[in-house]
Amino acid sequence: MDKNVSAKKSLKVVDPQESGVQNGQSDDYGPITPVADKPSRGEAEAAVRTLIKWAGDDPSREGLLDTPARVVRSYEEFFNGYAACPKTILMRTFEETDGYDEIVLLRDIRFESHCEHHMAPIIGKVHIAYLPHRRVVGISKLARLVEIYAKRLQIQEKMTAQIANTLNEVLEPKGVAIVIEAAHQCMTTRGIHKPGVTMVTSRMLGAFRDDPSTRREFLAMVGNPGPSAAPFA
Ligand SMILES: [Zn+2]
Repeated sequence: MDKNVSAKKSLKVVDPQESGVQNGQSDDYGPITPVADKPSRGEAEAAVRTLIKWAGDDPSREGLLDTPARVVRSYEEFFNGYAACPKTILMRTFEETDGYDEIVLLRDIRFESHCEHHMAPIIGKVHIAYLPHRRVVGISKLARLVEIYAKRLQIQEKMTAQIANTLNEVLEPKGVAIVIEAAHQCMTTRGIHKPGVTMVTSRMLGAFRDDPSTRREFLAMVGNPGPSAAPFA
């Protein structure tokens, strides 16, 4: 277990590196090429009608008539991260920083994602920090980076690594630190039914990995992750 995150008792701490997510292993940093056999909107709506029947209801009753169309439109929103390129949005950087070389931290970026195992919501927040090396990036771009990876089918470990690796590759800073805290509805509303459990993952690169004082400074700035501070309990 990684000691990067000081976790409360209820927190499960996972280091993405121990979870088999390796640097650069994934090829999905860029936009995912559209699947060749992408179904039509009509086919997608028919699939929702099938699931309604599977649940035990009648898709032709009045209250459910427009539901398949609404679900398909929701999917366009939930999964719009496939159409965006995370690297491109970080390309525009600023070099006039007057020598600023301290930690840049964007804290408590709320995100909504879906787990790739159950397609159930994952709701949480991301803390992104980097140590600039000549260049900085607009802060809204960091939030957008989170958004692109969140709006895909995910596991938290992979999302943590993807955000860190992309920032590291494009910005080439002296270090990157990512902490994600999230609640997984596949665990709270089904299966083992454990509400209130938060999963915490972290990825430290460069100075945040090699220099304990830099890492300590980051963790102090983020604060102790836990349910009290969580906007999503
Ligand atoms: Zn799940």
